[in-house]
Amino acid sequence: MKLHLSTSLWLLAYLLCCLLDSALLRTGNSFGPVSLAGGVALAALLQHGWRILPWLALLMCLPGLLLALPLAQVLLLATAKAACCAFSFFLLAYPAPLTEFKTRHALCLLWSAAGVSCAVYAWLLSDLLPLAGGDQSWQSGFTLLWLGQALGILIVVPGFLALQDEIRELRANWLIEATTLVSIAACGAMLLLSDRYHDSLQLTYLCFPLLAWSSLRLGQVGNSLIALVLLLILGSPSVAAGLPGEQMLQQLVLLGMALQMGILIAVIRRESEQALADARIAKQVFNHASEGIMLISSQHKVLAVNPAFSRITGYSEADALGRPSRIFDTRPGNPNHSQRHLLEQLQQTGHWEGEMQDKRKDGELYPAWLSISAVHDLEGRLNRYVGIFSDYTSRKQAEQRAHYLARHDSLTDLLNRNGFHEELAKALIRASTKRRGLALLFIDLDRFKSINDTLGHDVGDQLLRIVAQRLRMHLKQDDVVARLGGDEFTIVLENIHQVQQVSQVAERLLQAMAESYLIDGQALFVTGSIGISMYPNDGSIASQLMRNADLAMYRAKDLGKNAYQFYAHEMNSLNTQQFSVQAALRFALERNQLQLVYQPQMNLATGQLSGMECLLRWQHPEMGWISPAEFIPIAEETGLIVPIGHWVLLQACRTAQQWRESGLLVPKVAVNLSVRQFKPGVLLEQVSSVLAETGFPAYLLELEVTESLIMHRINEVVDIMNALKAMGVTLAIDDFGTGYSSLSQLKHLPLDILKIDRSFITGIPQNDDDLAIAQSIVAMAKKLSLSVVAEGVETEAQMLALRAAGCDTLQGFYYAKPLPAAEIAAMMPKV
Ligand code: C2E
Ligand code: CA
Ligand code: CA
Repeated sequence: MKLHLSTSLWLLAYLLCCLLDSALLRTGNSFGPVSLAGGVALAALLQHGWRILPWLALLMCLPGLLLALPLAQVLLLATAKAACCAFSFFLLAYPAPLTEFKTRHALCLLWSAAGVSCAVYAWLLSDLLPLAGGDQSWQSGFTLLWLGQALGILIVVPGFLALQDEIRELRANWLIEATTLVSIAACGAMLLLSDRYHDSLQLTYLCFPLLAWSSLRLGQVGNSLIALVLLLILGSPSVAAGLPGEQMLQQLVLLGMALQMGILIAVIRRESEQALADARIAKQVFNHASEGIMLISSQHKVLAVNPAFSRITGYSEADALGRPSRIFDTRPGNPNHSQRHLLEQLQQTGHWEGEMQDKRKDGELYPAWLSISAVHDLEGRLNRYVGIFSDYTSRKQAEQRAHYLARHDSLTDLLNRNGFHEELAKALIRASTKRRGLALLFIDLDRFKSINDTLGHDVGDQLLRIVAQRLRMHLKQDDVVARLGGDEFTIVLENIHQVQQVSQVAERLLQAMAESYLIDGQALFVTGSIGISMYPNDGSIASQLMRNADLAMYRAKDLGKNAYQFYAHEMNSLNTQQFSVQAALRFALERNQLQLVYQPQMNLATGQLSGMECLLRWQHPEMGWISPAEFIPIAEETGLIVPIGHWVLLQACRTAQQWRESGLLVPKVAVNLSVRQFKPGVLLEQVSSVLAETGFPAYLLELEVTESLIMHRINEVVDIMNALKAMGVTLAIDDFGTGYSSLSQLKHLPLDILKIDRSFITGIPQNDDDLAIAQSIVAMAKKLSLSVVAEGVETEAQMLALRAAGCDTLQGFYYAKPLPAAEIAAMMPKV
């Protein structure tokens, strides 16, 4: 068994009290008026639990030994004491551990501990000790034994429990408490001693108010100490000596009763004070809360409302009390009739929290944040509801403002990019369900940057604001207008039936933007460029429409700004730089920047010039020489290839015809054709008119068509080729080997010449694969009775390998680069 410090302190206290108890004994008596040791034993048990009991039992033998009783009696006495103590502890601590000393515990202490177990103790001793040969006084001592033991418990235990509870408060106020106690004790003692020879009963009565007062003022700690002091004085041999035994007993009984009353008063006062304080705080919270609070009966009637309730709703307390609460009203007409889930959840979980609509007395609807809880009584029956709500308007407004700013541009108040995309998405859904057209206008101000840079951002901002106003003014109320950032504006026009509707709006907007801007007394001039894409023709999804409108806008800028431009399919995939190339290309024809060069084709058998390929060159005055590989695709995408192709054809035939007329023996002249020219109405018309116009014979004209073009649109192409063939024109398949065409397909085409793509020639002779491919192409061509031209021959080795493979004609830098007209003419023999 281990002995802790606090355990030993308790045991020491017990020992001291045993000595004190025996000091109070009158000579010749075996038991005294009070057993403080009994109280200390119970308190020690309460503090340390059962493990201290063996130590206590050991010490309980001490009184018997002090009285010099025989061993059997000593043991019996100790056993009875220990049993009483254990029994009291059992009754007190079990079933409720003493964490807080309440009325319940005070009563338990009185009846169970002081009453029952002390009676058991007194009975045990008064009946059993005489049997063990004890003193006769034990036999008649039941009452005194009982009272002495009970008194000890009642003085020490409540004091100890209270001390445990209040130890912190006591520490804070110890000086006040100590002085009060000392003065009360001193006064009591003086009173006692002065009255000693007169009427001592009067003195006992004095104890009542004193104890009541100490209970109220000092609580249980003071109460117990006062009782202790009084008892010590009263029980001290010097005082007791002057009192007859009967009177003494009477006084002790009265004192005990006073003590019980004190304990009860103290506990009850403490509890009711606490309850009152709680109620006061609750009332204050209720009255001063900024949230509206209402108590609602289980029948949904309003029981109480606080001032905030009236402030928020406009209903006074009198208006509200006794009325059915609107929270539970689910009839139609009530703003909350849809809140059935509130009632369901309240029933299931006892709580609901959320936003609801409420109506003020003046009829104004407002959003309220409500938290409502069901309150149940101890038996679990629904007692009432407590609803707490706040006016949600300002938070809602802040939310709305934040929401507004998330979708709007703070400078112009137009929609911002986010807002615009949302609206565009909605408009597209409407357009697709109603099967209506829609136009997306992309506006960019011309030269806005220079205004911003030279006049400052303030001026720039003001200008943007005016532009926004003008755009708004010239559009319908529900047309979507947005500023995407910088000087970019977008507009959505819905329900479009005709393109003219859109052009009218665009013209109106251009005019409005072009009017002068008066900013800081200064007139500014700015124009805008508008690109337009149409749903569904130019795209069915937002991103596509946006991109196309953007492309169209750049085109409008290219065409000289202050203009609008509808998106045209050809713009697709072109970037700005390409646009400027394209814009320049448009003028290239008119300004004679295009010219043709001619690359010789040599016949391997004869070593003579057997033909030539016409290749286009563009000499741009600023950009310099531009490769056809770069501008032909742009010309194709924009459709400019049609007039350009016509020019090439015309130029080639005209030049060749001039050579002929000047007496030269002109071989075949090959002209490249683009996919865009390959349209029945276009090509046949172009070729026949050019031949007719120039007089160049059709049999000398060779047209090159790329393999990929043929293979992608074989059905369309076949007819055109047949028609060309019928005119007497020679047809060549260009870049052969790159289009994965099959022999069976080639068979059906009216072809004369097959040009092996340069990529296969480059690897010859070192690359075996390339050589094999070239060889098999030649073999295959021969089978189909086609003559073969190898393109891009740069070395003698290539030439030799191709000759060995059976190639008819070679073309490439090995022989000559594409040459100007005069130079190629020099290669032709005279007739
Ligand atoms: P293409 O029809 O395959 O033309 C042959 C290209 O190969 C020409 O380039 C030519 O200069 C180049 N070339 C010829 N021999 C050699 C060589 O030994 N080594 C190398 N490295 N290159 C050689 P160019 O003139 O730049 O033309 C490029 C393409 O532009 C042509 O390829 C053709 O598809 C297109 N093109 C040129 N002129 C016209 C035209 O008038 N109309 C159309 N529709 N397309 C044209
Ligand atoms: Ca070619
Ligand atoms: Ca080629």
